[in-house]
Amino acid sequence: MPYNLNAEYNSQQCRDNWNILNEIVHCAASIHHEKEIGLQQHYLIGILNIDIRTFFLTREYQIREIHELCTMGTVRLTKIFNFEMAHALLNYEGKCKNIHGHSYTLEVTIIGSPKSSQGDPEDGLLIDFGTLKKLVNSTIIQKVDHSLMLNELHDKELLEHLHHSFRKILKVSYQPTCENMLLDFANKLKHSLPQQALLHHLRLEETHSSYAEWYASDNA
Ligand SMILES: [Zn+2]
Repeated sequence: MPYNLNAEYNSQQCRDNWNILNEIVHCAASIHHEKEIGLQQHYLIGILNIDIRTFFLTREYQIREIHELCTMGTVRLTKIFNFEMAHALLNYEGKCKNIHGHSYTLEVTIIGSPKSSQGDPEDGLLIDFGTLKKLVNSTIIQKVDHSLMLNELHDKELLEHLHHSFRKILKVSYQPTCENMLLDFANKLKHSLPQQALLHHLRLEETHSSYAEWYASDNA
């Protein structure tokens, strides 16, 4: 569906403010590729929340500003991390039931629009690579690196003994597969990123030929 500014002006006449918002978000999303709609709606709601407050206070809806926000350049930004971790799969039939380790690679990709604000130290940045590095390190990497991750349903005495001997034992409420770790990491990162940077996808490599991916658009 092509973008229709007139449709937005008509909707502006509607007395139901919530309907106006939904219609505008729908129109704005339609200018993007279908696969991105869920993500863009999420992104736009993040932006619109600020403007809605203004709207409710002043009753002046700045449609052109919203249009500019909807069509401004969007970029994806990726940073790559490495960590060493051991795990064992509970009740698994095969080699992975034994404690063994991997050299994991985690790719974190975020999406958003670079800040456009002359004189601002963050002008032109979606997020500083250094900030993203610190955030992912403190949220995930420092916790998992050189640890042994085990399902908390493993024998309690065994877990206590391991903790006593090795300290960095991570007891998790899930089977520590590449897939489940990815879901856990995505959940943690989603709530840690600054407002202007949305998590687009994660890729977790367990070996050079085996990896799992998480996409925000698949989970919208
Ligand atoms: Zn493994």
